[in-house]
Amino acid sequence: MRKTEKPEGETFSHGMVRVSLGSAILLGLMRGRLDAEPTTIYLLTYRRGRCTANCGFCPQARGCTGRADMLSRVVWPPFPAANVIERIGKAYIDGRVKRVCIQALNHPDILEEIISLVRMIRLTSSVPISVSCQPLQKEEMVRLRETGVNRVSIALDASTRDIFNEVKGTSAGGPYTWDGHMRALKDAVEVFGEGSVTTHLIVGLGESEEEAVRTIQLCHDMGVYPALFAFTPIPGTRMAKRPSPPLEKYRRIQVAQYLITHNLARYADMTFEEGRLRDFGVPRNLLLKIVESGRPFMTTGCPGCNRPYYNERPGGPLYNYPRKPKLEEVTEIKRQLGLQ
Ligand code: SF4
Repeated sequence: MRKTEKPEGETFSHGMVRVSLGSAILLGLMRGRLDAEPTTIYLLTYRRGRCTANCGFCPQARGCTGRADMLSRVVWPPFPAANVIERIGKAYIDGRVKRVCIQALNHPDILEEIISLVRMIRLTSSVPISVSCQPLQKEEMVRLRETGVNRVSIALDASTRDIFNEVKGTSAGGPYTWDGHMRALKDAVEVFGEGSVTTHLIVGLGESEEEAVRTIQLCHDMGVYPALFAFTPIPGTRMAKRPSPPLEKYRRIQVAQYLITHNLARYADMTFEEGRLRDFGVPRNLLLKIVESGRPFMTTGCPGCNRPYYNERPGGPLYNYPRKPKLEEVTEIKRQLGLQ
């Protein structure tokens, strides 16, 4: 090992950044066909070795034995950061890109790594920047905001304290706690403002529909936008053998998320039977209008984020549509919701 090198596993970005395959194709860094163009460029901090956390669903987790260049079912090849950032600047000016999302692995130098990436982006572009990261201290979030970050996302992933603990907390050998995440989300709202903080909730980790919807309401009331993901089993992860959630369950939670985040209904208005959503608490004609718009089934997250095929194969089934669902797709969704 040369004197200037750090040992394997330490922060070692070498001016490199990982880029999601779809983003890399959009930026012209790679050749390939895109079934749906991403409207956000997804970057992942580059590191030899894995994340220091140990989330049971994540291929970047410390204990995962599968590929280290994946996050969810997406592959993230590394590229020189300067080249990537120059292309992002051009794509933003051309209107092909609405946002950059920096997904940060958990390691001790991560704040400085994010800040140096954001500084580089800000030298060339005013593109909105989201950072999806571990719970940082409030003053660290202030530094992110002052460097030019517009939004942060701190992923709860789990809908209940117990599932959180089992999947990514102490029972999973991870560093996270439910209370620590909640504290960080509250701090983030104070730093970035209501509506400028996102969390990610994964459906299919063992929660009931009622538990998922209750947490969606809790987040909304805190000023945090809850973005929905469907659990995706990835080879080599601790949860590789668990199934994806039933589409019908996911659709009901999508409708509830839409109603709550648009202030059209509250968790308390809805009825549940043995944890399953039975009634959305809105008149049927309003429900039909909303379902037929297709909007509740489009990818949820920061403005301009469509995460194509993050949870699904292009052949389907599509949990989150990266575009407006077509008429025949809406008909199928209505059937899944029992509205036909
Ligand atoms: S919602 Fe999209 S842009 Fe926002 S943090 Fe999540 S992946 Fe990134």
